[in-house]
Amino acid sequence: MSEQDMMNEQPRRDTLHGVGVSPGRVIAPLVHMAPAVSEPPEDEALEGDAETATDRLKAAALAVKAGLKERAARARSESAAEVLKATALMAGDKALVKNASKLVTEQRLSPERALWQAATAYADQMRAMGGYMAERAADIEDVRARIVAELRGEDAPGVPQRREPFVLTAEDLAPADTAVLDPDVVVALVTASGGPQSHTAILARNLGLPAVVAVEGVLDVAGEAPVFVDGAAGTVVVAPGETEQEAVRAWQRASEQLASFAGRGALSDATVVPLLANVGTGDDARAAAEAGAEGVGLLRTEFCFLGRDSEPTVEEQADAYTEVFEAFPGRKVVVRTLDAGADKPLPFLTDATEPNPALGVRGYRTDWTTPGVLERQLEAIAVAKQRSTADVWVMAPMIATVGEAARFHDLVVAAGLKVSGVMVETPAAAITAEQILERVDFVSLGTNDLTQYTMAADRMLGSLADLNSPWQPAVLRMIQATARGAAQASERGGEHKNVGVCGEAAADPALAVVLVGLGVDTLSMSPRSLAAVSAVLARVDAAEARRLAELALHATSAQEAKEAVRAELPVLADLGL
Ligand code: PEP
Ligand code: MG
Repeated sequence: MSEQDMMNEQPRRDTLHGVGVSPGRVIAPLVHMAPAVSEPPEDEALEGDAETATDRLKAAALAVKAGLKERAARARSESAAEVLKATALMAGDKALVKNASKLVTEQRLSPERALWQAATAYADQMRAMGGYMAERAADIEDVRARIVAELRGEDAPGVPQRREPFVLTAEDLAPADTAVLDPDVVVALVTASGGPQSHTAILARNLGLPAVVAVEGVLDVAGEAPVFVDGAAGTVVVAPGETEQEAVRAWQRASEQLASFAGRGALSDATVVPLLANVGTGDDARAAAEAGAEGVGLLRTEFCFLGRDSEPTVEEQADAYTEVFEAFPGRKVVVRTLDAGADKPLPFLTDATEPNPALGVRGYRTDWTTPGVLERQLEAIAVAKQRSTADVWVMAPMIATVGEAARFHDLVVAAGLKVSGVMVETPAAAITAEQILERVDFVSLGTNDLTQYTMAADRMLGSLADLNSPWQPAVLRMIQATARGAAQASERGGEHKNVGVCGEAAADPALAVVLVGLGVDTLSMSPRSLAAVSAVLARVDAAEARRLAELALHATSAQEAKEAVRAELPVLADLGL
């Protein structure tokens, strides 16, 4: 290649590169996430007269309330509408404005400082009450930030509220930022940090939004600049031209072909590969059933516990699980017991001061430090199972030893549940899968954690995104070891031991082919990915899947494995994936 050719091969100056985590191509103006609202100085004094200031306070609170109510009316789900309505109620709380007004008149504080102080006192009181009230303290702090932003004439914190479509950029997105994100307006997500398994990536796939993470320099791009985002290629082009516009049109044509999933995953030779959904709530489960999922491969039960500072009762849990089971009558639903810790801390279970939470007391291990929670959860699952016809399987997260698997199986049986399994998320579980499967009925590969533990790379760190790819040949070998162990255990025990994948790897159509080639039986993913994965699986037979798996296993890097397999699957380009 001549030097000139090499120059031409260089990325354009206005092309930023990251890791593509959710396919799709769009062009829209870029809007940065509004920064957190800063605390007004303690001595920020009132300027002007108190009456005008208190009127401004009232007006700001009412404006915030009205804005939240309007968003609630437009919310895309019932749960998002509930969150917004509850926050609107707090913004309209007369006591809050009254207390703040008192501080304005008596202590001559600025309305911003007075509101901040009054709301903080309110939040502290709620926290001290514990239980449900304590859980609402964060909502008060959210209202506090919104009213102060309104008083200052700043953008409200969090996801900007707009009517015209835009590409949202941020350092990273927290679950709270995204709970109420409207996918009709936010058309793509681009973050400076975050890895392929980060919240942003999982959320983007759930919503079917193109997303690129770990994009260096994106926060320096001027707000409102039009950008092209390619969520498969992992690129962001500032000031896009005709080439990018054509790429968007090609994607729109391809995605029409991927509009729906027929409800049955299979290879071209009719080898059945059940395609299941990852869900967290009843709402999710109903949407998954509607999208054609053949069952649930991962019910993340911690969603029922997150944001709580005490354990939900057996009845509360049973009600939440029943909702999910009822969405899949007669179908398989794999319930994962509580996976608290690391990026999902729970105040009553996990120790926030641990120096290294990803390697700490998390997942199944919380049963050692807080015994009883797991047994009560299994009891709740058994109660919910009695109320529905779903085929309920139960599995434990973060298993590292055969002994843990054996004990979990005993607990499941003692609760009156029939099918027990464990997640393979640690290299230890992958290489002892055969012995583990002598104790339990199935395994499910959590490739998000399996990747971070195999590669020793924190899954939340954008700077380690390349290491954190499930295409890493070392991770593929862990998956192969698991499938081989399961095959041995099945042969010895005389009954088939199912190997599933419920990590994000299953949602990548090219990787899905490799997983099947490695011996994986079922794939579980965000419902949005079902159509693309099924369309690609339907184009390969079992022998081809095995050949592509070999190709990936023998690559020397994640990039090489991915490119080698993708080059053999022209259907991906046909479908714009
Ligand atoms: C995983 O680790 O792959 C998994 C499915 O669990 P989570 O993403 O909830 O940790
Ligand atoms: Mg996990």
